[in-house]
Amino acid sequence: MEKYDVLVIGGGPGGYVAAIKAAQLGKKVACVDNKEFLGGTCLNVGCIPSKSLLNTTHKYHDAKHNFASRGIECENISFSLDKIMETKDSTVSGLGQGIAGLFKKNKIDYFYGLGKFESNNTISVDLNDGENKLLEADNIIIATGSVPVALPSIQIDEERIVASDGALSLKKVPKKMIVIGAGVIGLELGSVWSRLGADVEVIEFADNILPGFDNDVRKEAKKIFEKQGLLFKLSSKVISAEITNDKVEVEVTSVSGNNSEKMDCDIVLVAVGRKPNTEALGLDIIGVELDERGRVVVNGQLRTNIPNIYAIGDVIAGPMLAHKASDEGVVVAEIIDGQHGHINYDAIPSVIYTHPEIATIGQTEDELKNNNIEYKIGKFPFLANSRARTSGETDGFVKIIACKETDQVLGAHIIGDAAGELIAEIAVAMEFKAASEDLARVCNPHPTLNEAIKEASLATYFKPIHL
Ligand SMILES: Cc1cc2nc3c(=O)[nH]c(=O)nc-3n(C[C@H](O)[C@H](O)[C@H](O)COP(=O)(O)OP(=O)(O)OC[C@H]3O[C@@H](n4cnc5c(N)ncnc54)[C@H](O)[C@@H]3O)c2cc1C
Repeated sequence: MEKYDVLVIGGGPGGYVAAIKAAQLGKKVACVDNKEFLGGTCLNVGCIPSKSLLNTTHKYHDAKHNFASRGIECENISFSLDKIMETKDSTVSGLGQGIAGLFKKNKIDYFYGLGKFESNNTISVDLNDGENKLLEADNIIIATGSVPVALPSIQIDEERIVASDGALSLKKVPKKMIVIGAGVIGLELGSVWSRLGADVEVIEFADNILPGFDNDVRKEAKKIFEKQGLLFKLSSKVISAEITNDKVEVEVTSVSGNNSEKMDCDIVLVAVGRKPNTEALGLDIIGVELDERGRVVVNGQLRTNIPNIYAIGDVIAGPMLAHKASDEGVVVAEIIDGQHGHINYDAIPSVIYTHPEIATIGQTEDELKNNNIEYKIGKFPFLANSRARTSGETDGFVKIIACKETDQVLGAHIIGDAAGELIAEIAVAMEFKAASEDLARVCNPHPTLNEAIKEASLATYFKPIHL
């Protein structure tokens, strides 16, 4: 039986980063994963393929609808869905090979198969080639990620009733697509197919899109997405979705139960959230504790109730985000090495890659109110930012929230072009516990979108200049 210092189950952004960091710290490391390419959900069926489709379809949509207004004449703009998918697939395989190369460089043994606990120190792996292998390790990291939540009454076939995996690989553009859930994945993938010509209608249980996000952002986002052609049916729930000959028949009722209707479409996308992936792991065999939502319970050192077993990423509590998983991967390797790795969970940014993008970090006004924390806010619209005016991307705003007493930045919410890049400036500020005045005194190059952060910060602690 092979023996390792560290064995990682799951090769996603949590697991593969943990494996590399542990190897860099001199450990003998193995990683088990049951996907063809390392990189997990994020690389194979998540962040990367969705961003490839979002980027390509945005370029197409922009060229078709906006270039003429800026004096660029392009006639007969069309697309090849096969080529769009090929581009996405080659990006995924290229990056997957890159991680395999990093494993080789760091002398990490990779086992392609499904891992299951046999004991606190041993994992049995059903290898993809049909063989079985037993691996032993002093430390084991569970990094098995998450899977889509299904609705009990709706059978996903990944062809006509799809979860995100299927929506990333549709063979043709649907005429009508119904998206269940107006969260991050529903809006990103709904935008992709809408830009390619599908009529997209999003059904959401809550009374506005993007539950949990800043309320001003939610309002603005809805307005902008509606202008782009997305339809929203709020305070509504899907009761059933049945495949008939050439359609899917969807029954929708209002949350109040007063109205009910049937709608036809070609594709239903179920995007109602994700749940931790622990089913095949045999955690019950060794008694790893799970919480009420099926997440592996860990302490501040990412350690489970069994001291040599750790867990990171989507399989534990916290935002289901690739960079959160990766940061935990670094920290867990440092802790196994006897160091003091730590993560600031108050400053983890989150981005929605629609157009415009939506980026958020720290607390919302609602959260602060619930915690009785007094705050002040400053907002600055991109309409008043010169760079946004030059690029014609004037939708949205930057909103900064700071502690009323100390002026420390507690959160920021941005909707606008490149919001996902802009939020990094605020992440750095929050990491160093900056005040809104500190941010306002940062000298930004002109003209840049970052100046909107400076102005919003000025507005938070005193007054903006350009408003
Ligand atoms: C459509 C979509 C878009 C997304 N976009 C973004 C984005 O833009 N930015 C962002 O930050 N996040 C995004 N996410 C979320 C992101 O993908 C996850 O947060 C991230 O992948 C979690 O990383 P992880 O390492 O915890 O797990 P995963 O990436 O899920 O990796 C776990 C791996 O473990 C494997 N595995 C599971 N059980 C076993 C077993 N028993 N044996 C062997 N292998 C096993 C799985 O097959 C998988 O390969 C997106 C998700 C989806 C679905």
